[in-house]
Amino acid sequence: MNTYLTGRILLGRLPKGGDLLKEITRVVTENGIETGTLMVIGAVSRARFGFYDQEGREYHFKEVDRHLEIVSCSGNISLLDNQPMVHAHIVLADEDGNTVGGHLAEGTVIFAGEAYIRELKGEKLVRSYDKPTGLSLW
Ligand code: ZN
Repeated sequence: MNTYLTGRILLGRLPKGGDLLKEITRVVTENGIETGTLMVIGAVSRARFGFYDQEGREYHFKEVDRHLEIVSCSGNISLLDNQPMVHAHIVLADEDGNTVGGHLAEGTVIFAGEAYIRELKGEKLVRSYDKPTGLSLW
């Protein structure tokens, strides 16, 4: 485990109609944040998220073309190939309160997004291929 100090904290709205993962990545990149954590609440007009098949070693993606609340979206920022990479998971609820969720993927469209991004200062956290899991891990 590395130890970090809190750097800048960004709190703001993400644009309606934007792609949730791309918009978080844009904010992070524009602000030069290489390590950090994030949380988002709000709503989406459609969603796409993945489930990692541990046997098959690939993501299976699910698309939900309906309006959903972002109950929780949390994640982290670290470096992959020298670029900030956002890794986030999302839990979404429908009008009955039923939830779905998984690994946030491109294709999730923001209806309203309130983001909290916390920069962390310290040792760089770098992702690389991890043979036992098939994932890019720290
Ligand atoms: Zn994930």
